[in-house]
Amino acid sequence: MTTANPPSNTNIWTINDSSFLYGLNRWGDNYFSINENGHISVQPKGQQGCTLDLLELVQELEGRNLKLPLLIRFDDILEDRLKRLHEAFNQAICQYKYKGRYQGVFPVKCNQYRHVVEELITCGRRWHFGLEAGSKAELLIALSLINDPEALLICNGYKDQSYIETTILARQLGRQPIVVIEQADEVERIITASQVIGAAPLIGVRAKLSSRSSGRWANSIGETAKFGLSVPEILTTIEKLRKSNLLKDLRLLHFHVGSQINDIAILKDALQEAGQIYIELNRLGAPMGYLDVGGGLGIDYDGSQTATEASTNYSLQNYANDVVATIKECCESNNIEMPTLVSESGRAIASHFSVLVFNILGKSVVPAEIPPIKKNESLIVRNLRETLAFIQNIPKDSNIDSSKLQEFWNDAIKFKDDALSAFRLGYLGLPERAIAEQLTWACAKALVEPLSQSGLIPEELKALRSALAGTYYANLSVFRSAPDTWAINQVFPIVPIHRLNEEPKQLGHFADLTCDSDGKLARFIDNGQIKPLLELHELKPDEQYVIGMFLGGAYQEVMGNLHNLFGSTNSVHLRLAQGGGYRLDHVVRGDTKADVLEVMGHNPDALLERLRIASEEAIQHGSLKIKDAQRLMDHLENSLRQSTYLQNDSQDKAETSSLRAKFNASGNPLASRPPA
Ligand SMILES: *Cc1c(COP(=O)(O)O)cnc(C)c1O
Repeated sequence: MTTANPPSNTNIWTINDSSFLYGLNRWGDNYFSINENGHISVQPKGQQGCTLDLLELVQELEGRNLKLPLLIRFDDILEDRLKRLHEAFNQAICQYKYKGRYQGVFPVKCNQYRHVVEELITCGRRWHFGLEAGSKAELLIALSLINDPEALLICNGYKDQSYIETTILARQLGRQPIVVIEQADEVERIITASQVIGAAPLIGVRAKLSSRSSGRWANSIGETAKFGLSVPEILTTIEKLRKSNLLKDLRLLHFHVGSQINDIAILKDALQEAGQIYIELNRLGAPMGYLDVGGGLGIDYDGSQTATEASTNYSLQNYANDVVATIKECCESNNIEMPTLVSESGRAIASHFSVLVFNILGKSVVPAEIPPIKKNESLIVRNLRETLAFIQNIPKDSNIDSSKLQEFWNDAIKFKDDALSAFRLGYLGLPERAIAEQLTWACAKALVEPLSQSGLIPEELKALRSALAGTYYANLSVFRSAPDTWAINQVFPIVPIHRLNEEPKQLGHFADLTCDSDGKLARFIDNGQIKPLLELHELKPDEQYVIGMFLGGAYQEVMGNLHNLFGSTNSVHLRLAQGGGYRLDHVVRGDTKADVLEVMGHNPDALLERLRIASEEAIQHGSLKIKDAQRLMDHLENSLRQSTYLQNDSQDKAETSSLRAKFNASGNPLASRPPA
């Protein structure tokens, strides 16, 4: 188990150092930590319950031919999140003696995958947990999956006549849909639909609050918000409902201040404003009964507990306390019955349970070898060699002034620029330019050691560390699996899932498989700040380097796209088994290449057939041998049936090397030959 202590002063790197560096003890929320082997350990039921070694799990899944990249969904975590949410509200209700209940719904848009929604419905039943739908397709999911007459079904989004009629009829099926009026003209359609069917739906109204907001989704509230009614519009709506004898069905007030509220003060303001509107609606004669505080309950992605981009300055319990206390006070001072509190918390429920695991295919190397001295080298190259020699001669453990180091680096950069100018003017050949670049990198590399001893590092020299950083090539598409990192600069905790008892001595960022220069992960959590490079390990030749991206269960794969035709990854749902170990409940195979081609309207068989004909022609012309044509067709056919990601053949490699070891042991004559 890891603790929150900062790194020790000894030179031996421990799992505590890793835990501190990657922030696991801050954001892991008792689900993720580091075990003695230096592997990530998952505790799907939180503090109580068994742990799983994530690396071992990945290896066992790979053994079942579930290759990386892989999305591992811990359904126990999903259930635990639901439990924590309900416990927080129940605790607040007790503490403040709130005379009402909490009843949550899951906003389906947050993760619409079948097994996720089904799981939430099943384990949420004990709390009558419901769903929120934001479109007609989501309504279909919600209507058909909710089988608890007490669970709520909040109907948001744009609604046409048939949407509204569906909800009225569903009420007669024994469901509890509440149609939330989000646009001023929706009330007309509700009135018409009620007349057509001769029955009314349960009605809600979404208020456009004018409280201040902040953060990425700040314009979800305020006058220009896309959804919700202004106060005058609410009043007109009330009158229209009254005239049509539908005011008796107005039961819910809804507001939503945007996702990932960073600052709890924003929520408090909104709650006070919404509380007052709720009171007024009551006074105007609506029976009401539900106050829906929308989504926005945030996740502390970096564990810094600050009102910054990747964090929140409140806990789940603070959130529940504020909702309960504010509404209680509002109702009590106005002598109005306290409503059932509803929240539509998506991110807070679904973020933790998915872990995306991917392997590294390779790493860029800085060309810093020192080229041998040639005869008649140009002055520029000689200058660079001299600078390098100065740096190399700095005695170890000397307290050299960092401004001196800065000077060396400035010299190196200047000589490199000189080399470039000379090359442009034709005075320096390509080989000499290459030597100049290599020497500059060699200077940079040589500066790292004295720099780490010199204490304060000037800004420019920080850039030097970054210049030496490596690019780790990840078997992954960020557009498919982490689209928010690209679209809205979201950061997620990213951590190697093993080797955490080893000091990560390299700085790096990740480049994905797509041909898009935006396809990268280059923003990392840093306890309240964002850093462009992550501490990583040097790759080992015979071992996979496996990285986990955490807290991405909400909005990621569901918003991912097929950029460059990278499809969904394999995913698994697992549960802790009774008596230890785990049970694989569902395996969802990722898209094959044939699958993604079909999405784009191609016919994989027809594509193959065209290539077969082309290869026949090539055979006829004598440019392709029959054997090679067959090989080509085999590759293409196999490839269509396989994942869109690079296949991890380390297993095959491992098998080959264990075979080789066997040969060695048995004294096979092959053994003395060097490996092919
Ligand atoms: C997106 C959305 C939610 C979910 O928000 P989270 O921040 O994920 O909890 C809830 N309600 C409405 C109306 C939304 O649009």
